[in-house]
Amino acid sequence: MRRALLEHLSRCQELIEGGEMESLLLTDGGRREFLRGLIRMDGYEIGVRVELPPTFPLCLAKVFIDSISPRVERRPHILTDGRLCIEAESDLLLDVHDPWGILRETLVRAHRLLHQILTGDRAAEFARELISYWKGSPRGLPVPCFVAPDDRPRLTKALYFEELLLAVADDPREPARFSPDFSRLPPCTLRNAIYIPIDPLAGDPAFHPDKLATLSELRKYVRALPSRDGRVLDKLLGRSGKHSPLVILGVRRPEGERALVGIQFHDTRGGHPLAHEGNGGSVEKIELQRRDAPFLASRGGADPHLRGRKVLLAGCGAVGGYLAMALARAGVGSLTLVDGDVFELANTYRHVCGIARNGMPKVFGLRQEIERLVPYITVSPYQQRLEAFLHERPQTLDSHDLVIAALGNPTIELELNRRIWSSHRNAPALFCWLEPLGLGGHALLTHGRASQSPARGCLECLYDHPVRGAALENLAAFAKPGEAYTRDSFGCGGRYLPFGDLDAQNTAQLTARLALRVLRGEVEGAPLQSWKGDARAFLQAGYEVTSRYESQTGAFAETLAYIRPDCAVCQT
Ligand SMILES: [Zn+2]
Repeated sequence: MRRALLEHLSRCQELIEGGEMESLLLTDGGRREFLRGLIRMDGYEIGVRVELPPTFPLCLAKVFIDSISPRVERRPHILTDGRLCIEAESDLLLDVHDPWGILRETLVRAHRLLHQILTGDRAAEFARELISYWKGSPRGLPVPCFVAPDDRPRLTKALYFEELLLAVADDPREPARFSPDFSRLPPCTLRNAIYIPIDPLAGDPAFHPDKLATLSELRKYVRALPSRDGRVLDKLLGRSGKHSPLVILGVRRPEGERALVGIQFHDTRGGHPLAHEGNGGSVEKIELQRRDAPFLASRGGADPHLRGRKVLLAGCGAVGGYLAMALARAGVGSLTLVDGDVFELANTYRHVCGIARNGMPKVFGLRQEIERLVPYITVSPYQQRLEAFLHERPQTLDSHDLVIAALGNPTIELELNRRIWSSHRNAPALFCWLEPLGLGGHALLTHGRASQSPARGCLECLYDHPVRGAALENLAAFAKPGEAYTRDSFGCGGRYLPFGDLDAQNTAQLTARLALRVLRGEVEGAPLQSWKGDARAFLQAGYEVTSRYESQTGAFAETLAYIRPDCAVCQT
């Protein structure tokens, strides 16, 4: 790449003409170094060095600051090796055929950042970057932190194995909820630690992270707490562990949220080093790794508000398995799983658990898989049929926020539909089911929110009155009724509906999206949603589709037109 740049050497003049550089000198002073130069801006003279990383021009070049004159003591966004933290190029499409253009773009960004460093609010920048200055911990690894920052000082807990700090947690049970690994540890000792919210930017225009690790400076920030919080803190300091006391600082960043860093005091003299000017001790920085549920959920695209929500899922087959996992990953905090079946090898290719839990009851296998992958979720498994479960726990339908049935059994689902409608207090219910051979799938919400009583429309509305000797017909169906779509593997008891893993995933996704909207209170009425798939495999097998399949124009449809004014269940 160096050669490609040198072939168009005259273009280096553009950097000077464009004002990016005062003067420059191409060098071969190292494997990657390409040029050195001088930037003059805001009354400063800045010596820079530009390196071409091996992946250049697929990325910006690297700019190092060799000197700034007059000298600037504390400079944010400049790493210890002098590298300028130019923002990543993810917001930028680089033209790889124009390496000089990319070099120039690098320097334009360097200019912008240097201007900010030299003339902007450095204290605010340091507060923003605090975490990157806070390296170090007893084991060389950040300490797992289950503390949710807020605006009041309070006690929190430090978990130790012998003298090793293992975790910090507001609730000492939280680490085990995060990962079963914590529950396998030998018994830990708990010591009090103190959470202190501070706002160094409020009173110190010269804030720098190192000041937090200097006892006299730290005391100033802590003493600046509002007087009520100060009195609370004085009491807490008396209750903190005497031996190597630990504090967790919730440092307010310019945007208002708090960054968490830890400080452990050693060789203390007198009482707690923060309690009195006369007390002393050395300060050790403790790097924390936030693992608290609200932080992880919002950072990972889940919804922290769903942690308090409780969903009952009946049916843990292909659709139910993906559905349970999707709800867990969305942040739902509590799942009740009901299914009497055991995993068989036939489930291998279309279950979220694959072959991993073969031979296990589905509810237990699925719980293991969910807990293995998703923290902070309570999964309650019941290995029984839904009818038996409801019989033993008649109150269960009003103790959940949502009931979902993915049973593939219309008889039981219609019974559940009637039960749901038997009391206004019962939760909304979602029914979901698949069409054979990839034709599509459906989700129907019932007993959901309406302005006064539950919105009309239910699973019963979809079924025409029974004809003696014939099966009930589902009016939403894409596959023509009157045909047996299940296939037979080995005779009695071996019948199954042919569909693929992606069909199960599609139906689970349709249902999960609707479920999350219901849990957030965003859905009015009782929509029937359908996804329409490709009919080729179905038609090749010699089957016929319904006019409903043919009339659905897009891949997704939602309707309320199915609601029957004479429905015996939802219109009474
Ligand atoms: Zn109805």
